[in-house]
Formats: sequence, C-alpha cells, structure tokens
Amino acid sequence: MNAERLTIASSAPAEGLDRLVAFGWGEPFAAAFHAQAALGRLAGRVVVEDRGRYLVETSAGELSATVSGRFRFEAGADPAGYPAVGDWVALDRRDDDGAIIHAVLPRRTAIIRRDPGLRTAAQVLAANVDVGLVVTSLNRDFNLRRLERYLAVVWDSGAEPVVVLSKADLAEDVAGFRAAAEAVAPGVPVLAVSAVDGRGMADVHSWCAPRTTVVAIGSSGVGKSTLVNALAGRQLQPVSAIRLDDDRGRHTTRRRHLLRLPDGALVLDTPGMRELAPWDADGLAASFADVEAAAANCRFADCRHEGEPGCAVTAAIVSGELDAARLEAHRKLAREAAHLERRQDALARIEERSRWKVIHKSVRRQMKDRYGEAP
Ligand code: GDP
Ligand code: ZN
Repeated sequence: MNAERLTIASSAPAEGLDRLVAFGWGEPFAAAFHAQAALGRLAGRVVVEDRGRYLVETSAGELSATVSGRFRFEAGADPAGYPAVGDWVALDRRDDDGAIIHAVLPRRTAIIRRDPGLRTAAQVLAANVDVGLVVTSLNRDFNLRRLERYLAVVWDSGAEPVVVLSKADLAEDVAGFRAAAEAVAPGVPVLAVSAVDGRGMADVHSWCAPRTTVVAIGSSGVGKSTLVNALAGRQLQPVSAIRLDDDRGRHTTRRRHLLRLPDGALVLDTPGMRELAPWDADGLAASFADVEAAAANCRFADCRHEGEPGCAVTAAIVSGELDAARLEAHRKLAREAAHLERRQDALARIEERSRWKVIHKSVRRQMKDRYGEAP
C-alpha cells in the first residue's frame, strides 16, 4: 500500500466524464478526440511515465498502459513522439486493468529539454502545463542568469511563467531581490514566499486554480518540494512509490508524476527539471522582451549591438536603461539555441537519408519477390 497512489485515487471524483474534467479535460482536447471516440477509444491523461509504461487516468479509472506496435513504428526513435506525463491519449482498454495507447492528442504546451544522452533530441518533460512556477531562493544561490534560463524554458513551452522567490525569510532585502527579478522577467508576476513564515503562499495558491496544471521548476534545493507540500497542505511521501505492472511484476518508481491536490489543482512533480536548456529561439524572444524591444530601434536590422552606428541597445546600456548582463545572457542563450538547431538539422538530414535507404531496400526486396533476382 502506498499513500501517494491512494491520494490520487481518493481525491479524484468517481467514474465518468467528471473524472476526466477533474484532470483538466476540456477543449481543445475534446475536439481533437472526436475521431478517436468514433473508434470506441477512451480518453485519458498520463499521470506517471516509467520507461515505456504509463499510468493513465481515464473515465473508467486508472489504467496501466503501453503504446501499440503501430504507435511505436510511427514514432520511431523520436522521444518527443511518445506520451509524456500530462499528455492526453486515446487508448483501448483490455480485459484486465491494462490498456493500449494508440495516439497522443495534440499538446497545448510542452516543457521540452534536449535529451541528456548523446543525441540531440527533444525530450518532453511535461505536457499540457498551464503555469510554470520558476522557483529561485533568496540566499546565496540567487542567480539572475539561471532565472533567465528557466524562464526561457517556460516561455518556450507555451505555459504561463510565474517567478517564485522562495525562502524569503532568509533575506533581509526582499524588495531588492524582487526588483532584480522583475528586471529580468518583463511582464512576469514575481511572488516572494516562505514556507517557514507562510508569507506569499496565498499568492501561489491563486495561481493553482482547480484543473490548472502547475509545474515547479528550478535548481535542486531551492524549495520546490517544500512548496508543493505546502500547496498540498501536508507532507507528500518523499519517495512516490507508484506501482506499475510490468513483465517483472509490480514495482515502485519515482518517475514523473502528476498529482491532484485537495483543492483541485494538478501538480507535476518531476525530478528531471534540472539542467534545462532552451530549445528554440521563440522562448528567448519572450524572455528577453526588453532586449528585443531596444533592438527594434537599432538602425540596422541585422545589428549585432557591437558598436555599430545607431545601435539602440548600446544606447540603452549607456543610459542605464538596460543591464549589459542582460544582453550578454541573451547572446549566450541565443548561441546555444542556434547550435542546437544546427545539430538538429544535421540529424534530421541523416535520418531522412537512412529512411530512404530502408525504403529502397524494401522496394528492391519486393521487386525481387515478384520478379526474381534483378539483372
Ligand atoms: P527542492 O530540491 O527544490 O525540492 O528543495 P526542498 O523543498 O527539498 O528544500 C531544500 C531545503 O530548503 C530544505 O532543507 C528545506 O527545508 C529548505 N527550505 C524550503 N523552503 C524554505 C523556506 O521557505 N525557508 C527556509 N528557511 N528554508 C526552506
Ligand atoms: Zn544594435
């Protein structure tokens, strides 16, 4: 028996559509599901992922699932093609508690990072997240550059970013920290909170409305688990012993995990949120709206802000309107994103080539089957 799993089950409403709605079901997923419903499939939300096995909340309860053979064939080696925690999927229930996933419904948002392995592939850490709490603590670990990096990831995902300055009880000058954070997070709400004296917790709660999917990201030790526990109103198990059936019987795991809080918000608790790097340039533009706004006034459209005449960015730095460190951070992240994109393009070309090779081979084989050995 384990507390975590009981929590998921007991805080969810009974069976039926209500159960799906409690997990965030609604448009645009319902519309995307029409064709699947016609095939008699169930809709469900992935709450746990563990090496190709999924725990899925459906109108018929919680089912343990794997993807179909056809799904695997079509998704191939692209990890982003597979279900991730938070995804809505179409599945067929089998006789037992098991199910087969046939499709992933289009994601509204996705938190993506480059694959930690050698390949430069996108890995979806969390799907259909509404609010990304970027947590950074008010002590020596406070680092604006890291904050920018996490913000870029959330902007990239399509979720709404909120900056949470944690451990406010440790800081003397909370207002100073807040101003510094606001300066690198244009247009983003900044909340100062403390799990020790409880300040700011009501503000965080207001971002966690029922059926809203929230994820806390930030470096290790900044207080994410403490924050989630406070939102849950109790101590969640440090090791989430979720059981998944597989060939080797039942086992426990602490993989990515979506849980429903007593007040109805959905919190994604994921250990994989550490070394996050922005995936494409769109998130950067939003994160660095101040730099981009200044750059829009540069005389040359391709201005590199390195002393060109009429450079509005340099002017903004000289006048103190823009922090030079912001420009430097933007450059660094843009370089990283461009580098990843180039590697991604190269990989795509290689994959395309090998796909053609396979097709040629199979055509040759068919010709041989039909007409005998080619001349
Ligand atoms: P995580 O790695 O981001 O999940 O961080 P944890 O939630 O495990 O917290 C790391 C440490 O910071 C723990 O020792 C917590 O007790 C401590 N901590 C968390 N929140 C606060 C806070 O608001 N104030 C203070 N003083 N310490 C905190
Ligand atoms: Zn310029």
